[in-house]
Amino acid sequence: MSVLTSEAVVLRTWPIREADLIVSFFTRDYGRMKGVAKSALKSRKRFGGALEPMTVARAWFVEKPRQELVRLDQLEILRSPLAAPVDHARMAVLSFFAELLDEALPEHDPQETVFRLLVSVLEQTTAVQPDIVQPQSAGPQSGPWMALTYFSLWMTRLMGLLPDIAHCTACGEALKAGETSFNSLGDGLFCAVHRNGNASALSADSWQLAQRMLRAPVSAFAGESWPRRRGMDLRRFTLQSLERHLERRLRTAEALGRLGG
Ligand SMILES: [Zn+2]
Repeated sequence: MSVLTSEAVVLRTWPIREADLIVSFFTRDYGRMKGVAKSALKSRKRFGGALEPMTVARAWFVEKPRQELVRLDQLEILRSPLAAPVDHARMAVLSFFAELLDEALPEHDPQETVFRLLVSVLEQTTAVQPDIVQPQSAGPQSGPWMALTYFSLWMTRLMGLLPDIAHCTACGEALKAGETSFNSLGDGLFCAVHRNGNASALSADSWQLAQRMLRAPVSAFAGESWPRRRGMDLRRFTLQSLERHLERRLRTAEALGRLGG
C-alpha cells in the first residue's frame, strides 16, 4: 500500500469511536473520498485546524484493497476558511458548498473542473470583508453572495442540468431579457409562450448576469457591488435544478434562505 497525496478540500467530518473521525474530502486527483482520521481529535500535529469544512489542504492518505474508507494520515493547511473573520452569511455559504459537494460528487471519481471551480470561489468567499479592512483598500466588494451565485450556476452546468440559457428549452426560440421564466418541473429557461402555470420570472439583470458568469472566471466579478438581493432569483433557479436532481432538499439552503440569500 502506498501513500497517495493530493490537494484536497475538507467537506464534512463525523465522529466514530473515541477520538477518531470519518472525513469526507474532495481531492483534485482522485475525486471525493471518505477516510478515517485516527486520533484526529487528539493529534494536532497531523491535522491541526485542517478538519474545518472548506479548508484547502494537502492530504496524505492510503487506499486499502476492498475497503471503502481510506486511511487519512495527514492534512497540511493551504487555505483555511478561518483565516478571514467569521460572519453568518459567509459560514452559511461555505456550509452550502460543503453539503452540495458531499451530496453531488460520486466517490473515487476525479472531477478536476469542479475542483478548480471550488478553489476559485473559495478565494472569493474568504476574501476579507469591506467593513473590517482599511478604507483605502476597500473598493466595491462582492462578498459571499457573488461566490454563491457563481458556484450554484456552474455546479448546475457541470452536473448537466443547464441547457442553453439563451434559448427557450421548449421551442428553441431566442429568449428576451425580462420575458424569461423557470419552473420547478423542468431544467432550463422558457419563453413567454412556454411559461407554465407555476413559473417564476428570471429578471433581465439575472439572465444577463448568468450569461456573463458562464463566460468569465469568478474573479471577473470580484470588483462588483453585491448586495444580498442581487441574483437571488438566479440562485433560486439553480437551487431548484440541483435539488430536483439530488431528489432532496439541502439543509444548508434553508439556512441561507433564512438569511435572505
Ligand atoms: Zn418557447
